[in-house]
Amino acid sequence: MRTDFIMSVIAANLQAVHQRVAHAAQVAGRPADSIRLLAVSKTFSATEVEAAFEAGQHAFGENYVQEALDKMAALSPLRAQLEWHMIGPLQSNKTRPIAEHFDWVHSVDRLKIAERLSAQRPQNLPPLQLCLQVNVSGEASKSGVAPDEVLPLARAIATLPRLQLRGLMAIPAPVSALEQQRQPFRALRLLLEQLNRDGLQLDTLSMGMSDDLEAAILEGATLVRIGTAIFGKRT
Ligand SMILES: *Cc1c(COP(=O)(O)O)cnc(C)c1O
Repeated sequence: MRTDFIMSVIAANLQAVHQRVAHAAQVAGRPADSIRLLAVSKTFSATEVEAAFEAGQHAFGENYVQEALDKMAALSPLRAQLEWHMIGPLQSNKTRPIAEHFDWVHSVDRLKIAERLSAQRPQNLPPLQLCLQVNVSGEASKSGVAPDEVLPLARAIATLPRLQLRGLMAIPAPVSALEQQRQPFRALRLLLEQLNRDGLQLDTLSMGMSDDLEAAILEGATLVRIGTAIFGKRT
């Protein structure tokens, strides 16, 4: 496909997603700028990331370490203007490149991973921003910490140097009705509120994807992770 065609499609898709976010925020009685848009670029090329960047998007989510590193290398002249978020499952033997190259990690679900990220985060970089992935009811994937294990894990991680614990992330099983979509997002928000009452200082609810961003925003999402609605279907 021609690059200018890809650019115009991605720019139009991004605009439509911003409109969905703004509308959902309005329905929820929240300011639209209280919700950040993370463009999930997994399986798409550096060209497509650059097209989204040209259309004003700066934060990108990736699931696979090597694929992300290749894109970062291709886009290295833009590094200072891009924010890279790791949102995929984590393996403890692959934490070093994550600690060295990403700005955020959303999928932390055990202490060992956080300890390695803490030890491997270079001193000259800002703290790595973390979310704990929680297995709220009916999780699509097996990753994620159980809700009743989140508080001790969060307390332990909050003491580690070179990390900043920002909040919680979830990937609920797909369902189509809005009311059903809202339930796990509500559970995640209530959990975050409970953690903050218990003395943590968390400001991020990473929840909502292309098919359920409205439900997530109604339940307080501060960051939605959108792939398909921006870049198209993944093959
Ligand atoms: C792929 C992925 C997304 C984006 O999903 P879409 O339905 O394409 O918007 C969001 N979050 C995570 C963790 C993902 O793996």
